[in-house]
Formats: sequence, C-alpha cells, structure tokens
Amino acid sequence: MQTFEKDFTKVEDSVQQYVTSVHKKVLDKNPNENEFHQAVGDLLHTITPVLQKHPIYIKQNILERIVEPERFISFRVPWIDDSGNVQVNRGFRVQFNSALGPYKGGLRFHPSVNNSIIKFLGFEQIFKNALTGQPIGGGKGGSDFDPKGKSDTEIMRFCQSFMSELANHIGPDIDVPAGDIGVGAREIGYLFGQYKKMKGRYEAGVLTGKGLNFNGSLARKEATGYGTVYFLQEMLKDHNMDLRGTTVVVSGSGNVSIYAMEKAMELGAKVVACSDSDGYIYDENGINLKTVKRLKEVERTRIANYIAEHPNAVYSEDCTGIWSIPCDIALPCATQNEIDENAANNLVFNGVRAIAEGANMPCTHEAISIFLENNILFGPAKAVNAGGVAVSALEMSQNSSRVSWSFNEVDVKLKAIMRKIYHDCVEAADEYNNSGNLVAGANIAGFTKVADTMISLGVI
Ligand code: GLU
Repeated sequence: MQTFEKDFTKVEDSVQQYVTSVHKKVLDKNPNENEFHQAVGDLLHTITPVLQKHPIYIKQNILERIVEPERFISFRVPWIDDSGNVQVNRGFRVQFNSALGPYKGGLRFHPSVNNSIIKFLGFEQIFKNALTGQPIGGGKGGSDFDPKGKSDTEIMRFCQSFMSELANHIGPDIDVPAGDIGVGAREIGYLFGQYKKMKGRYEAGVLTGKGLNFNGSLARKEATGYGTVYFLQEMLKDHNMDLRGTTVVVSGSGNVSIYAMEKAMELGAKVVACSDSDGYIYDENGINLKTVKRLKEVERTRIANYIAEHPNAVYSEDCTGIWSIPCDIALPCATQNEIDENAANNLVFNGVRAIAEGANMPCTHEAISIFLENNILFGPAKAVNAGGVAVSALEMSQNSSRVSWSFNEVDVKLKAIMRKIYHDCVEAADEYNNSGNLVAGANIAGFTKVADTMISLGVI
C-alpha cells in the first residue's frame, strides 16, 4: 500500500512538473499576453488528473502542441473615413487547431483587440467547438477597429479592406469566420460581399451568421443567448430548481444578452437589469425587451436612452455596479473579466444561486473560485455559450447541402446540443472525482476530444 502511494505521488509530481513546464513556456513565449495566460492557466489547472490517468498525452506532448497556434496572421487594414482621411487598423486571425475540422470562430471589432485577446478567444474556441460535437476546429479573429460612432459607409469600407487580406486565408473547408463583439449580420454581409467579389464564386459556407436573405440560418442570431438559457435550464433542473419566478441580471445588450433575456423571460424569469459599455439600467418591474431591441438592433444607440421611455428605471454609469443588484441568477453576457473578486462577493452576499457565462471568460479566476467555494451553480463559458458556434456549424451544413431548415428544426437541434454539452460536462467531472465542478468537466470533456484526435492524426 505504502509503495503504491509512493509511486502514485511520483506520478503526480512528474505530471505536475510537465504541466508547470508547459505553463512556464507559454508565459515566456507570449510575454504580456495576460488574457491568453489566463485562458491557458485555467485549462491546465483542471486537466492534470486526465494526464495522470492517460500518460499518452504527456508522451505525445499534447499540451505543448495544443497551446501553440497552427498559424497566427496579423495584417494592415487601411480604409478611408467619411472626411477623406486614411485610417489604419490592425487585423488578426488565429488558426489555432484544425484537428476536428476547419478552423471556426468569430471576428471581434473592438479597440481592445490585440494578440492576447485574439489568442485567448481562439484557445477557448478549440474546446468550446469540441464540446458542440460538430466537426469544427478552433479559430478567432478581428481588429482593433472601433465601430462605435462610425457611419454605415465607414463600416462597409472597413469590412471590404479587412476582407481584402482575410480572403487569402479562409474558405468553406479551410477557416470559417462569423461574428463576435462589434460584428453582426450587417458586417458579415459586407465581408461576404467582398469575399464573393474577390473569388468570383458564391461560396456561402465561408462565413456564418449571415443574413437570412443570403444563406444565413434561422435561429443563428438567437442561438448563443437561447443556448445559454437552455444550458442554465438543464443545470437548474438537475438541482431541482427552475427559472420560473427567479430574478435575473444579464450584463450586455448585444446579441447574446438580448436573446438570453428573451428566453429567460419566456421561461418565466424576471430580468431586472442589462448594460452596455457605458453603464447599466435597473428596472425593478422587469426590463422591457422591445425597447432594448429597438435601441440596440434598430437605432444602434446607447442603453442610457431606455430611461426616457421607462422613467421608473434607473441608469447608472458604472458597468460593474450591475453585480450589486440582488438576483437569483446572473448571466454575464458582455465581455471578458467583467466579474472580478469584488463583484463575485457581492453576488454571493446577495444570495445568487446560479451563474452561467454567456460571454467568453467573463469571470476572473478568483471570481470562479468564490462561486465554487460557496457551492453556487456555475456554468463555464466554453460550455454555456457554445450554442452560437453550434448553430454556425448547422449553418455550414445547410449551406453545403443547399437547404434551409425551419426555425423550429434548428431550435430543437440547439436544445439537444446544449443538453448533451451539460451532461458531457457533468460526466467528465464525475469521472475525475470532481463532481459538480463544471469548469473542470467542460475542460476535460473538450480537451480529451481534441487530444485524442490529434493523436489519431499523428505529429503534424
Ligand atoms: N463568436 C462566437 C463565439 O464566441 C461565435 C463563433 C461562430 O459562430 O463561429 O463562439
């Protein structure tokens, strides 16, 4: 018995050494890329038991291979603004891992975009996409272009210039971008138009999140938000809870947030707050979603304007304040690291019962630890928000077979995918004696799928 324990400790030590050495290499080779370090660190810390059980992953050096992008592209994006001035932005695409299929992941247009943001998003995308069960690898891209305040023609010229370079690197069986923050159906339309013109071919499956008039999928717009709530619903059900009658706070007011609110309301929850990058609104009686949709989807204006039509609501110019509002369920659907230690403590103090991450990496490492320590149900981003990219894969299927499924057909598939993701995470956590820890469950389930496939494909 003693010998066994001794040996076991030795194995544990050598696995730990391997993980630590790969982690250190990532830090050294990618200096100042904090978000990327965070995403890699969060994954590495939860998969050590998998490496202990399956030393083949160490023998094949899977970790060092998986943290290195297959390709990272950075390019100049010059464009002319409405005053005739030449502007220059930087464009990116990371083609992180193609073991499971063509690279797949959104484009983000936001001034904060840099190597670190793109790499953290691309890294997360590998495992998220694996969890969907769809044949898609992981990628991500974008630009530090700020769409805020730009005219429609400026957006179009920017998208055309961006695609002039990106088109050299993508294709329906190579890499299939979609939207993310700052990129919706309008931008995808301009990007697709430019790609089509350059190639002289109508390759619908080169982009997803397209408009319904040019081969987009029904329910793609709703998919990330609806999927977030389907996952949440399954998690609550598993713990004998229900959305009906709960008070919910949802950050953001973009695509993910709007459709998470819509589904949560439909299932009987009261959503009392949402936000944008300037501030948040609190409407005690429940947010009027029609107003939010009009302000954000049609008028493309600030959430502060909600107050003019709903004088009972309160507007505050401090985004993090939204997490001080008492609620049963919190759905961070805005951006990375929006819930820090302080916000997490506020939520716990006010009796939050469940968190589901609609955005990518919205909770810091410290915040997640606080939720787990306090036994709050916690759904991690790569599982919770996988519905968007899952329906993107369904859009690719429809495009290649030149068919168009009904809203209901897609929605039924989405629901089934989200349920399966939830149960796969639960099972993976159980298998590695970490029951109830869906952070570990999602990482393990996603990682093993990609790692096993990388081994099947050889050292390439
Ligand atoms: N940007 C979304 C995500 O973070 C969607 C990606 C896609 O549909 O390819 O998963």
